[in-house]
Amino acid sequence: MDQIRIWKKIDINDIEGHLLICDDLNAYCSSCKKMGVPIDAKTCPGCNTTLDFITTHEKHNTTTGAQILLKMLQKSQKTVIEYSDYKHASDKKKAKNLFNS
Ligand SMILES: [Zn+2]
Repeated sequence: MDQIRIWKKIDINDIEGHLLICDDLNAYCSSCKKMGVPIDAKTCPGCNTTLDFITTHEKHNTTTGAQILLKMLQKSQKTVIEYSDYKHASDKKKAKNLFNS
């Protein structure tokens, strides 16, 4: 199976709360911050939210980042998203909410 990066317009609200963030040794739920969630878990054992997306803070052009990306692709059926894209959209939403409140 090959991996192809896809760009898609998606609402940040569809990702927030359903994202598993994976680092070198651990993965945690973006919703409740529970640590140690298995990367193939369909729901969070902490808050029971469905985990449809997965990402990593690590840059993919580093050895660690490339290893984590490979692990996510091999062991998880979730949609892998680019952390910087998520962070950018999430920060934009927070700023917008700040100015509207
Ligand atoms: Zn959770």
